[in-house]
Amino acid sequence: MTDPHHNMPVADAEVRARALREALEDKGLISAEFIEKWKDTFDGWVPENGAKIVAKAWTDPDYKERLLNDAASAAGELGFGGVEGGFITALENTKDLQNVIVCSLCSCTAWPILGLPPEWYKSFEYRSRIVREPRQVLSELGFDVPQEIKIRVWDTTAETRYMVLPLRPEGTEDWTAERLERIVTKETLIGTANPDPNSAIVS
Ligand code: FE
Repeated sequence: MTDPHHNMPVADAEVRARALREALEDKGLISAEFIEKWKDTFDGWVPENGAKIVAKAWTDPDYKERLLNDAASAAGELGFGGVEGGFITALENTKDLQNVIVCSLCSCTAWPILGLPPEWYKSFEYRSRIVREPRQVLSELGFDVPQEIKIRVWDTTAETRYMVLPLRPEGTEDWTAERLERIVTKETLIGTANPDPNSAIVS
């Protein structure tokens, strides 16, 4: 089978996916709209959602309290939730504590607010080593956590998903929420990096 748009062989996985889709449609088990709906849902799973949550928590103390009490509800206030977002716990970083998340069994993240996990997050090496030697692994990822800061690693389950609430960086006191959002990345929501005020694109 050849891909008509790119004139190249279609990958085995794509052939299987297409065959499965056709079989399900033939049997009337799914509709074309079903696939489209899921594609839209996937497109909405981006870390910018988590960034909005963090920026609001940084600029609205009442919201921050609600986020720490029940992150799924607080995410819902901003319109984020649904599949794999039913139970979310927000982990607050402090001056003395850096939180890091992992799914040691597979690859779970809070999809609606972090997006799908990066490849390295799913790797056996990250999953096995971050729980045993987090400081070393973070350092290898380019994130040196000072010795005096404790690192806590949280293992995700199928039911409970996490997001890290990073510390608001010094020097951003007069920033708007919109500007703050731009320094919150997927890595900072996982806890393998901290927001860098110098990374914000000035526009
Ligand atoms: Fe998982």
